[in-house]
Amino acid sequence: MSLINENFLELQDSYLFSTIAKKVAKFTEENPNKKIIKLGIGDVTRPIVPACVQAMHKAVDEVGTEEGFKGYGPEQGYEFLRKAIVKNDYQSRGIKILEDEIFVSDGAKCDCGNIVDIFAIDNKVAITDPVYPVYIDTNVMSGRSGKYNKNTETYENIIYLPVTEKNKFKPELPKEKVDMIYLCYPNNPTGTVLTKEDLKQWIEYAKKNKSIILYDAAYEAFITEKNVPHSIYEIEGAKEVAIEFKSYSKKAGFTGIRCGYVVIPKEVTGYTKDGNEVSFNRLWNRRTCTKFNGVSYITQRAVEATYTEEGKKQIMQNIKYYMENAKIIKEGLENAGYTTYGGINSPYVWLKVPEGMTSWEFFDKLLEEANVVGTPGSGFGLHGEGYFRLTAFGTKENTIEAIERIKNWKIN
Ligand code: PLP
Repeated sequence: MSLINENFLELQDSYLFSTIAKKVAKFTEENPNKKIIKLGIGDVTRPIVPACVQAMHKAVDEVGTEEGFKGYGPEQGYEFLRKAIVKNDYQSRGIKILEDEIFVSDGAKCDCGNIVDIFAIDNKVAITDPVYPVYIDTNVMSGRSGKYNKNTETYENIIYLPVTEKNKFKPELPKEKVDMIYLCYPNNPTGTVLTKEDLKQWIEYAKKNKSIILYDAAYEAFITEKNVPHSIYEIEGAKEVAIEFKSYSKKAGFTGIRCGYVVIPKEVTGYTKDGNEVSFNRLWNRRTCTKFNGVSYITQRAVEATYTEEGKKQIMQNIKYYMENAKIIKEGLENAGYTTYGGINSPYVWLKVPEGMTSWEFFDKLLEEANVVGTPGSGFGLHGEGYFRLTAFGTKENTIEAIERIKNWKIN
């Protein structure tokens, strides 16, 4: 008899995006003449930039030749790309990261999810709330979360760190000792950020408690303000306590092509039960070699092109495009009387729904009366209730029209 991994039975079904899809489908069926504008999901719309397309074409031609053919590549990523990452994402900011501290992957979702393999199941985990759901669910799957309590709608072994208007979207340090801390900045879903000063406290906490910070910087490319760090390693001491996740999905439109990387400095260590120190880099390298065969050569050449002068310029144009949308959304909503957060260093705008309404009630009314789709905040966690996420990843025309509709909308 084959027994199942019962941890999976503790997972709570996420109805968020399927419920949205069902509601939108029903509305469209009943109102075929109404044009719906979707500012809900977090996928990009701008095409891959020419520099990356050309690099891919070149790589395709190369692998079709005797000399240029590529079989299995290094599991951790080709040297040319690890070098480009070190130089452009770290050295350029005065951070010393070594090539063998970079692991190129098929995206940040997989990395954030797989990283739990190298941590013991009895670690205490702290996660901000609302949050990108992957952190919680992968800890549930690996047995670290404990049981789900239906009354409190929380897992018994997860420490939730609320991020709301009350604390200006800056999570407070856990009162108790935790071993793993998930931080995502610029944040999905709230679009808010932590400054270098804010992050300093977290590094101090982690050092004092021998905890590890799992820092998801998937939206780093959208930062516009100076005092907001692009990498957690900009903060002194972070190299001893932080693992960083980066993604080309939103930055370069690679949501479909797939590429990201994780940084595990050699100084980041954990402990055996006997108190022996072990480098997480060594464990992750072993895991990567066993379970992963690397990202395709063609993809890695495309990513390398994001670091060329042409590539950088072209990507920056797309980022500017999205951030102009974010500005249109934020300013438009504020003119219409809404309180908004995010949207300055992030493609997400987090708005407060009118007093007395739930996130889902706001969703329904916005769909039915203004024909605009967003994402209810409560879908990202208990403390997302009362908020609503709009994304800047749509086209400019649709973004302008959606905001005009919201401005002219009188909620019934
Ligand atoms: N991390 C956060 C916070 C995200 O919002 C997303 C995607 O929406 C990801 C990671 C996934 O990135 P990737 O496409 O590289 O897997």
